[in-house]
Amino acid sequence: MAIRPILRMGHPLLRQSSRELTPAEIGSDMVNTLIQDLVETMHAASGLGIAAPQVGELVQLSVIEFTGDNSRYPNMGDQKRTVFINPRLQVLEAEVQGFWEGCLSVPDLRGLVFRPKKVAVDYLDEKGLSHYLVAEGFFATVLQHEFDHLDGVLYIDRVQDRTQLAFVDEYKEFILAQQPHGEVD
Ligand code: ZN
Repeated sequence: MAIRPILRMGHPLLRQSSRELTPAEIGSDMVNTLIQDLVETMHAASGLGIAAPQVGELVQLSVIEFTGDNSRYPNMGDQKRTVFINPRLQVLEAEVQGFWEGCLSVPDLRGLVFRPKKVAVDYLDEKGLSHYLVAEGFFATVLQHEFDHLDGVLYIDRVQDRTQLAFVDEYKEFILAQQPHGEVD
């Protein structure tokens, strides 16, 4: 287990699509070690989600975990640690909601992104068991952000109004105080 370097925007691996993990790989030492590395790396960076391509592994694997006391994204509720393997996302409500997102691969920036407010996800967990969940609000945005990484997409691609892109310090000083939108990783 190890804290892995996080690739930053500009690294070509962040722009590639990830392959599915095979049934034989799920539960293997290789994949379990990668999951542990993702968790440690996410915690070390105070992130609330991370996807395997962010550490240079082009497989469909993401971990999400956050609590209301996360230092980067306070007061956004709790989501227990969940491992998503080969996720398939379906939009249940096309109406969009806006959150100020950030990304461990795009340090020091926040941008306002509008995404569908309610989604469903089919996925496998670290044991290979299949699950279905429905998410709305902030969690729905986090899921879409993380799964975008598996398609080589960064949140910054989805910032429609580039006046709504800011450095974190300026975001906190000038924007958060005015409109307490949420944020993501
Ligand atoms: Zn990200």
